[in-house]
Amino acid sequence: MRIDLDAWGWAADTIGELDHRRLKAPSVKLRGVHAGAGGDVVCTIDLRWRLPNADACLSTVEAHSLEHFLLEGFGRLLPGHFIGVGVMGCRTGFYLTLLNEGRREVIEQTLETVLYGVLGATAVPYARIEQCGHWRHHDLAAAQAVAREVLAQRAAWREIA
Ligand SMILES: [Zn+2]
Repeated sequence: MRIDLDAWGWAADTIGELDHRRLKAPSVKLRGVHAGAGGDVVCTIDLRWRLPNADACLSTVEAHSLEHFLLEGFGRLLPGHFIGVGVMGCRTGFYLTLLNEGRREVIEQTLETVLYGVLGATAVPYARIEQCGHWRHHDLAAAQAVAREVLAQRAAWREIA
């Protein structure tokens, strides 16, 4: 697989670790690209939804319910590419990991679809006791409010720093 970050839609100076005082949110940022010896490529992406160090982090229940939606949505919409998603410990966003898919447009379109799905959902996915380690710790309405907020700023997702 040929890696052409420019063709994938990423500006070289936004990749990797940036000074968190410069970061904007909500944004979608390529963190890193890791090529294996066999030619497969693992891409790590930051979905930053709240400004760092601005007393603006997600609540634990918002982060938890949205993590479930991202897990279900990216797995369903990008089968064969989705590896995983996790909450950033600072609760300003999520880490997304994909196999052989690093195109910004595809990732943003998929995220947009997932977030519209949150707005239309009647339940948080994987929230039964046999599926989740803290199954009572979910709030659909709170997750929908965050999804609405992130979608309202869709045009700004490319403004990383
Ligand atoms: Zn859970």
